Amino acid sequence: QIHEGEMLRKKLHNQILELKGNIRVFCRTRPLTDEEASAEMPNGAPTISYTSQGEKSGKGLQLHVATNKQAKKRSSSGESCYNFDFDRAFQQDASQEEVFEEISQLVQSALDGYKVCIFAYGQTGSGKTHTMIGNSDQPGMIPRSLEQIFQSGEKMKEQGWDYTISVSMMEIYNEEYKDLLSKKKLPAGKQHTVKHDQKGKTTMTYMTDVKVTSMEKVESLLAKAMSLRSVAATQCNEHSSRSHFVFRLNIDGANQSLGQNVNGVLNLVDLAGSERLSKSQATGDRLKETQSINKSLSALGDVIMAINNGDSHVPYRNSKLTWLLQPCLGNQSKALMFVNVAPSQESAQETLCSLRFASKVNACEIGTAKRFVS
Ligand code: ADP
Ligand code: MG
Repeated sequence: QIHEGEMLRKKLHNQILELKGNIRVFCRTRPLTDEEASAEMPNGAPTISYTSQGEKSGKGLQLHVATNKQAKKRSSSGESCYNFDFDRAFQQDASQEEVFEEISQLVQSALDGYKVCIFAYGQTGSGKTHTMIGNSDQPGMIPRSLEQIFQSGEKMKEQGWDYTISVSMMEIYNEEYKDLLSKKKLPAGKQHTVKHDQKGKTTMTYMTDVKVTSMEKVESLLAKAMSLRSVAATQCNEHSSRSHFVFRLNIDGANQSLGQNVNGVLNLVDLAGSERLSKSQATGDRLKETQSINKSLSALGDVIMAINNGDSHVPYRNSKLTWLLQPCLGNQSKALMFVNVAPSQESAQETLCSLRFASKVNACEIGTAKRFVS
């Protein structure tokens, strides 16, 4: 006898199954700051506009880039206009709640035993941390995902499911893993290593993994991780934008009456800033950071493209990030990337780079049109 709930779960399962191996990309534009708004074009033409008609509604966007960099006013110079199409394009006024609604199914699938990755990609200041973590008034994807997981886990108890959830939080800086839930130094000569077994179960040496049963507990751990991260920030300028932050939930589910066990993983990743640094800035430590970031972000792009292309070899080993996430990035798993962008003309060139990267991993840029405004 199958419960109604169990049927619903199966249906959901199937819907999600269709998305398998398919990396979705959601673009999110943050609002203009007051300062940016006053520097923008007086003719009112926005840097980013949206396709609001037909099938493309909510998916297409246009980026307008002034071709004459000296001319702050776009109305007095030419502009290039680039069209992009994603699975979803959120406008500046999209709330955290609206955004979460679009990923909640994906989050749910981690409870069903899927391995899930959700990334935030974009230049520093584009809204990655806001999207992932947010603040107490506007909680982001991490707190909302947890709330849903705890609530659904509780509901599924009625159907005989029992979940054990644990969390680890780490950052990857200069191609090294760092535990954000422990202040202890690693034993001399030791480092964090990552292993995956046949079933895609990941183990990491010396990495703190805390069993959690409530939102409050995770929130306090998240605060702890953030403070450990900001300690490093004072030692190294803008450290947080130079490292990847990985929030990782391991979800073990058991149902005795069904005789089933599931292991799901939910990774929520706030990536390092994707901005290109000018050559003059990139010396010494900065050069090393820049090379590490470039290496891992391009490795991530390469891995996603290889998966999308169905390549027999996927180059997971090319970076610490892709190696850690290996079982969660591939045909058996589900991934989604937010490409966060700022809406100002000042950021337009970086925005173009971000959108191009995102459309490469999503494989749906729809051509480049050129238009001149007089
Ligand atoms: P990043 O992590 O990409 O460097 P942040 O998330 O820190 O960027 O965002 C930069 C600033 O913009 C922050 O002050 C943040 O609060 C604000 N911000 C970003 N996205 C939004 C949004 N969707 N709504 C309101 N404020 C936002
Ligand atoms: Mg940030």
